[in-house]
Amino acid sequence: MKESENRLIIAGPCAAESRDSVVNCAKEIRPLVQGFRASLWKPRTVPGFEGVGSKGIPWLVDVVQTGLITATEVIVPGHVDELIENLVAKCDSSARFIFWLGSRNQNHLVQREIASLIKDNSQISLMIKNQPWEEERHWLGIIDHILSSGFPSNRLLLCHRGFAPSGRDNPHNFRNLPNWEMAKRIKERSGLPMIIDPSHIGGTKENVMTIVNEASGLGFDGLLVEVHQNPQQALSDSSQQISTSDLPKLLKLFESKP
Ligand code: PEP
Ligand code: MN
Repeated sequence: MKESENRLIIAGPCAAESRDSVVNCAKEIRPLVQGFRASLWKPRTVPGFEGVGSKGIPWLVDVVQTGLITATEVIVPGHVDELIENLVAKCDSSARFIFWLGSRNQNHLVQREIASLIKDNSQISLMIKNQPWEEERHWLGIIDHILSSGFPSNRLLLCHRGFAPSGRDNPHNFRNLPNWEMAKRIKERSGLPMIIDPSHIGGTKENVMTIVNEASGLGFDGLLVEVHQNPQQALSDSSQQISTSDLPKLLKLFESKP
């Protein structure tokens, strides 16, 4: 975290595509952010590029050398095992990681098993993204499942990525609709930090800016945002990844309101 503002900014490509692309992106954004995101395993709504998988783990070892917190999605317990063995164990003990549970990962047995594998490793925090459907009880339930595995709350954080826009008014044609009031209540009730993901809410670069503008000043604790050095060439979520050169503008917008 940037100690001055106490906000956590995590940025990086939707997916790790090559060693050079992740390392170059991490080096470019290093002065602006605290964390780097890149998924190795991609859940897809319809079949498509599913990520490079285990092959990309050594690339993340290189990202860690930039000093950034390294964040990636874990879908099954086996991903955690692989990452602990081939990423965390290959880095200095000062390295910090965030593994996250994605919105589509809604099997509580899997959620708890993943939490159990991470809970005793003080280098790894766990981030919970909300489920796709708009239900406060379910979102709170995921948090309870994780905490019931004995996971320490000081290494747990939340991320709002919007809800599937089933039938609600959607004037900007967002990919997913935010519910800021619900996110604020859950942050308050859980006592956990809540960052927001304008990329998966917005679905387009323009919407990402609109959402950051809307959300800044609402008291959230940071951003998880997709950036790419060449968004047109991105293998997944090309329409919503902002160019790394636009990141300063986006952060200025977010930081303009405390
Ligand atoms: C992601 O952040 O890469 C992602 C797939 O998001 P979500 O689980 O929110 O769809
Ligand atoms: Mn994505």
